[in-house]
Amino acid sequence: MTAYLAVDVGGSHIACARVRSGTIEGRREIRLAAPTTLAAVLPVLEAHLTALHGSELAAGVSIAFPGLVDPRSGRVVSTPAGKFEDAVGFDFSGWASERLSLPVRLEVDGRMALLGEHHYGALRDADDAVLLSLGTGIGSAALMQGAVVRGRSGHASVLGGHLTVAIDGPTCLCGNVGCAEALASSWALPRLIAALPRRGALHDLAATNLKAVFDLARGGDEGAVAVRGGCLAAWAAAALNLVHAYDATRVLVTGGAAAAPEVVPFIQAHLRHHAWCLGEPPLVLRGALGAEAALLAATPLWETHRDQL
Ligand SMILES: [Zn+2]
Repeated sequence: MTAYLAVDVGGSHIACARVRSGTIEGRREIRLAAPTTLAAVLPVLEAHLTALHGSELAAGVSIAFPGLVDPRSGRVVSTPAGKFEDAVGFDFSGWASERLSLPVRLEVDGRMALLGEHHYGALRDADDAVLLSLGTGIGSAALMQGAVVRGRSGHASVLGGHLTVAIDGPTCLCGNVGCAEALASSWALPRLIAALPRRGALHDLAATNLKAVFDLARGGDEGAVAVRGGCLAAWAAAALNLVHAYDATRVLVTGGAAAAPEVVPFIQAHLRHHAWCLGEPPLVLRGALGAEAALLAATPLWETHRDQL
């Protein structure tokens, strides 16, 4: 079985690993100072990957990136505002060839997580599924009849956070109006909270994140209950849109906010009442592999799904 190097670029850190057919053989992490640039990180990344390369050389590198990428050209097309903006157009293939003597494949992080879960995690028994990652933003991906959905330019299925769920909603960072992400993500929380009457403890939270808001809502805080309700409704609407678009039998929720116990039952109930599908509504599941899913996907990306490019 062949070993591969895997990189997962996140908001607060970059994870690097050496993987072999569902097993992580070595792992390193780069903590990121915000904001940071690709140029600042590349020398450290090169050092970690060189160390992980090992005596039995790996066969290729996969990079899971949190933005729009063109898998065919191996280039980043667009990044979230303020995150690795200098990665747009960067020649990852040239870099990996020159510095590591390895070929590289670039993919959207949500699609890599879906691929990892399909081969080694919660979606092993499913060929038709969508993934919805809930956290700082909202990511998504789709699997149809066993194939990851990429589309003409690689954008298909990964913009689930920017599906319109409220036609009169707020303007999103992407420029669209009423995106799920503008109504239910960590970055949107300060605006959502500021719009509420100044009662209870919500406005005084030391850390404004989804976990803190959901914890407060469980204690009955009126404002937190309202924000939680809005988030759950937006996530459920986005999940339903993805199910209708991709004919899925599974909805996999991942990311930090997916751990909240309210999330899976709420989305499941929403699909039960509103999904138009044959037979049983799609089953809603939590990811089984956590942050390792996008790393473990290196093997199927290189060995199983490369010909789909
Ligand atoms: Zn948007």
